[in-house]
Amino acid sequence: MLPALKQTFGYDTWREGQAEIIGAAMQQRDCFVLLPTGGGKSLCYQLPALHLPKVTLVVSPLMSLMKDQVDALKANGIAAEFINSSLSRDAVQEVFTQLYDGRLKLLYVAPERLLQPNFIARLQEVGVSLFAIDEAHCISQWGHDFRPDYMALAQLKQRFPDTPVMALTATADPGTQQDILQQLDLNNPLIYRGSFDRPNIRYTVQEKFRPLEQLLAYLKQQENNSGIIYCSSRRKVDELTAQLAERGFRVAAYHAGYDATQRDQVQDAFKRDDISIIVATVAFGMGVNKPNIRFVVHFELPRTIEAYYQETGRAGRDGVAAEALLLFDPADIARMKRWLEAEDNPQRAEVAWQRFQSMAAFAEAQTCRRLVLLNYFGEARQQPCGNCDICLNPPQQFDGTQTAQQALSCVYRVGQNYGLHHVIEVLRGSQNHKIQELGHDKLSTWGLGKQLSHDYWLSIFRQLIHFGLLQQDITQHSVLRLLPAARPVLRGEHPLQLAVPRLQASSKTPAKLG
Ligand code: ADP
Ligand code: ZN
Repeated sequence: MLPALKQTFGYDTWREGQAEIIGAAMQQRDCFVLLPTGGGKSLCYQLPALHLPKVTLVVSPLMSLMKDQVDALKANGIAAEFINSSLSRDAVQEVFTQLYDGRLKLLYVAPERLLQPNFIARLQEVGVSLFAIDEAHCISQWGHDFRPDYMALAQLKQRFPDTPVMALTATADPGTQQDILQQLDLNNPLIYRGSFDRPNIRYTVQEKFRPLEQLLAYLKQQENNSGIIYCSSRRKVDELTAQLAERGFRVAAYHAGYDATQRDQVQDAFKRDDISIIVATVAFGMGVNKPNIRFVVHFELPRTIEAYYQETGRAGRDGVAAEALLLFDPADIARMKRWLEAEDNPQRAEVAWQRFQSMAAFAEAQTCRRLVLLNYFGEARQQPCGNCDICLNPPQQFDGTQTAQQALSCVYRVGQNYGLHHVIEVLRGSQNHKIQELGHDKLSTWGLGKQLSHDYWLSIFRQLIHFGLLQQDITQHSVLRLLPAARPVLRGEHPLQLAVPRLQASSKTPAKLG
């Protein structure tokens, strides 16, 4: 098939897995293909489609991507069409005519169309050489992007028992992978799992103290590099875009609140490097094929590791060094929790919560980021990568018993009735109005920690929360409460190792605490 690769697509060599997968497809074997985005999955069915006798049906969830792919194929002189709700009746009829004439090599359809009874009848009449199910993880309720329309595909093998099926996805944890194989009822499939490692991407997580300042400092280092900044809401996207534009960055906003023309304009300007930064919601990125994106910033915690991996994966497609920066504020976790409590399907809420917790654990991890990611996707790795914040700058530990005791007793002294910032201000000996009014400047813990910065204390408190010594009561304005595990620490029965807080260069960082 190598000459065919050259002749039709103009490539000289296979990408990882392509030769094996295409070989299996040509021998009518079912395939399960797990390759990262940009790995060259489309070619795995497009090339066989040209050489198989009958039509290849491609199931794809996104209308816009369908059209792009078909346009690209036609430009290569390949007989490809799509059918979806954007076509007129006449246009659909014209596609059917081509199908009956046996002229079509590839036909793209939406999942709900594929299993309409009269469509099935027509397909059975003309015969199908191969079904390619793109974004196959959408069939799994355990996946992060379940689409009810995909469920019907579970009947495919019953309707077409002799037609091989190729399932393709760029994103599936081991549980979801298993579910896809079962749902589609693949028969002794070739299972190809490519590596998900993107060695040129450097992963960094920074605690979010002063988001805008941190971001500006970061962007300054980036000079005119292309990058994407992801935010969790349209409002945040617009606000941040305005703040950056004000400071002279060549920036544009992208989210589903803008119409298609505006979004296309922004995307084109980004591709041409007229704009260097796009601030966007998750709506941005599908099908964006810009090779020289140098950085991706997550201004807020993504909902899943899958989303984080996909979004950061848009950086460094050219193989040149690129960066992924996640700004992490543990308050995002509480926000997510509230949001999920509003979800009415309890099973879906539970799945979403667990996925989110994996994401939060990634952000809080003290182990190599890449190890956390790859192990999450079931790609067992033990060797730290040397190209993430943890590897490059391992967290320094110190005996934090005394610091923890000061923090915990201050929570106790204020009656377990105040939030983080107030407790820190008391520790730092602030004379602010509220403290004077409450008489908290008379407490024994007042001013105990005045030699340390606010941000330093914030990091200490967060660690105490992570260790389960303190809890923030989100039902009561996030007031801090002691948990039973705080007792032995307070009594000095349990020494506590803490990570030395990682702070912005601007804040004072004592080298070590005794
Ligand atoms: P995926 O569907 O896995 O995200 P695509 O199929 O869109 O990836 O392929 C990504 C890019 O790689 C496309 O521009 C495609 O033309 C290119 N590509 C695919 N196979 C090869 C190959 N063997 N050699 C060079 N480029 C390839
Ligand atoms: Zn690492």
